[in-house]
Amino acid sequence: DPAKGTPETIRDHPRVFATLTAPSFGPVHNRPGNRPCRCGTRHAEDAPELGTPLDPDTYDYAGAVLWNNHASELWRYFTIYLRREIAKRAGLTQKAAREQSRVSFGKVAEYQKRGAVHFHAVIRFDGPAGPDDPPPAWATLDLLTDA
Ligand SMILES: [Zn+2]
Repeated sequence: DPAKGTPETIRDHPRVFATLTAPSFGPVHNRPGNRPCRCGTRHAEDAPELGTPLDPDTYDYAGAVLWNNHASELWRYFTIYLRREIAKRAGLTQKAAREQSRVSFGKVAEYQKRGAVHFHAVIRFDGPAGPDDPPPAWATLDLLTDA
């Protein structure tokens, strides 16, 4: 549908929706479905303690701060390593993979309740000229998912 402004071809390009979350920095108060929180309480939906550490003495505050501080660098490394893995799985050098395809990224950064940054990302294969260019035959959804 050209009225929607998206070229017909892009929709057929292999794409992966991924969520990249921080590791645990220690248990926090939460609402795990129908079960009570690990503290034994069933917290209200708007309880102010949600997302705060169960044990402030052992919570890795430094790790949590460093994670957020380095989130954009971690994302940058993720894209570097992903391209490397794609080339490896395609049996190509990184240069050859880059000449034959383009990996496009769209991402949104959000804060989880515990204050840690996480990313929602759409990662798509295009041809070397971009969104209007079909990706090569080796650039499959399976390969991208695996990478
Ligand atoms: Zn709790």
